[in-house]
Amino acid sequence: MANSILNSKALQDEAAAIAWVEARVWPDGPVCPHCKATDRIGKMKGKATRIGLYKCYHCRKQFTVKVGTVFEDSHVPMRLWLQAMYLLCSSKKGISSNQLHRTLGVTLKTAWFMSHRIREAMRNVGIDGPMGGEGEIVEADETFIGNKNGFPKRRGAGHKMVVMSLVERGGAVRSTVLDSVSRSDVERIIRQNVDKESRLMTDTAPYYKRGDLGTAEHEMVNHFAEEWVRGE
Ligand SMILES: [Zn+2]
Repeated sequence: MANSILNSKALQDEAAAIAWVEARVWPDGPVCPHCKATDRIGKMKGKATRIGLYKCYHCRKQFTVKVGTVFEDSHVPMRLWLQAMYLLCSSKKGISSNQLHRTLGVTLKTAWFMSHRIREAMRNVGIDGPMGGEGEIVEADETFIGNKNGFPKRRGAGHKMVVMSLVERGGAVRSTVLDSVSRSDVERIIRQNVDKESRLMTDTAPYYKRGDLGTAEHEMVNHFAEEWVRGE
């Protein structure tokens, strides 16, 4: 069978879709959005329990990865969100709410809501105030969409488009779509969005290696292998 991007697990299976988002929002494991705790967090199990529900034993509140993201307060399944994001990113001109409604089989109202949220999230880059601050960690991460091996995977030949995300530890995420990644792209995006006093964390891609990106500290980690496993 052809290795169609549309057959990838994160676009078809709800648990895989949620795991994919979790691996990006929480690269080091779940973070309580209420009290920012990173330990004593339990995954809720049981037949009637929603997939991806966690409980924080510090503040005793429950949460999912959706809290604080564009997916918050939405009952749309995560796999449909990822399908919508894929559709919106894979065509240069985007896709209308009407097309989204017909393609995903959701109501027009839901399609409008989804495309509005996704576009809003992408527009944030360069518009909101700086991310991070003194001693605060901001991670930069790229996800390659539409490479020949399927969606989503990182790095490799034949990719079409890149979603670059800046993630505040336990906080905001800003993403932007690029045709390809270059040193000048990543430098511009980081300088426009990240507070100069922040600690920047990136992977070891060549475009991060050449010189100063305008932050107080810059740490490079090779988290590729781990991400690969987590994102599966
Ligand atoms: Zn908590």
